[in-house]
Amino acid sequence: MPRPIDAVIHSDALAANLGRARAAAPDARVWAVVKADAYGHGIERVYEALRGADGFALLDLAEAERVRALGWRGPVLLLEGVFEPRDLELCSRLGLWHTVHCDAQIDWLAAHKTQQPHRVFLKMNSGMNRLGFAPTAFRSAWARLNALPQVDEISLMTHFSDADGERGIDHQAAVFEATTADLPGERSLSNSAALLRHPALRSDWVRAGILSYGSAPDFPLHDIAHWGLQPAMTLRSRLIATQQLQPGDTVGYGSRFAAPQALRIGIVACGYADGYPRLCPTGTPVLVDGVRCSTVGRVSMDMLAVDLTPVPGATLGSEVTLWGRGPGGAVLPIDEVAQAAGTIGYELMCALARRVPVSVAP
Ligand SMILES: *Cc1c(COP(=O)(O)O)cnc(C)c1O
Repeated sequence: MPRPIDAVIHSDALAANLGRARAAAPDARVWAVVKADAYGHGIERVYEALRGADGFALLDLAEAERVRALGWRGPVLLLEGVFEPRDLELCSRLGLWHTVHCDAQIDWLAAHKTQQPHRVFLKMNSGMNRLGFAPTAFRSAWARLNALPQVDEISLMTHFSDADGERGIDHQAAVFEATTADLPGERSLSNSAALLRHPALRSDWVRAGILSYGSAPDFPLHDIAHWGLQPAMTLRSRLIATQQLQPGDTVGYGSRFAAPQALRIGIVACGYADGYPRLCPTGTPVLVDGVRCSTVGRVSMDMLAVDLTPVPGATLGSEVTLWGRGPGGAVLPIDEVAQAAGTIGYELMCALARRVPVSVAP
């Protein structure tokens, strides 16, 4: 028997979450953002559930090829554009739309030979200071692109640093609006957080990433239940041992947990080599037979320990949900586990280890 750990990708949840994006922006078109191998879910595994989107956005050219290989003929957008001139050949061949965020990318386009002019998304750095033209350089970049025979339509794009938080989007949206007010072209501004939290913002193409995968972009301010989202990934395992602790007995490497009283614990076949964060401290939530419990002691490479007090009937083989959907309709949002580890749901789903077998549920 293989080690009893696996991950399940929930197609119904992906489709329902994408539906949430549509409902939040009924007049917009929706990019399903599938970068980083669909946030660790696997592009091929999410494709059927997300093909109701208007396009797929990603940044690795090999991933764009995979989307085309699945038969997708609609829009595919490279969120960082091309990395070197010859990437443009692939854009021409596969009909990829691409972001243009710097002068070099315009130079490369100007030197590119293509029958088919390219659709580009011109990116403004409206304050995030990662990619994009400064507002003062944006209009001349637009004019340069507009004069190129290699360029078809130009859409306008920016990205928010604080759509999930207190500072919000207004300072960036104002700069974007002031700079682009009289420019033609479709706009793409919203990521998941902006889409959910600032639905009044005009964004002709919204970029739905994390929300599709069932993580709340602004956790812990709001959770997935608040936003009507469902976990798209379950990581589950089983108890492979139990131990009866006496008061003072310790658990795991470094003896980081000492039993304050007699305690029954379960040993779960899941560790940091599966992508479960080693930084999760004692008290991280976990479901055993669908009942909420807590981890105790350090996470090791292949195992972790759980206090079985809330579920006395648990025994060898009991199902353990590390995140996602548990038995009996129980849900453990990935965001809660991420928070315990001091990180965000994005990082956990992207870090699911290769050794974990993954299946797709309808
Ligand atoms: C990753 C990414 C998104 C999606 O962000 P989420 O927070 O996952 O919705 C949108 N736009 C750009 C440019 C990105 O890189």
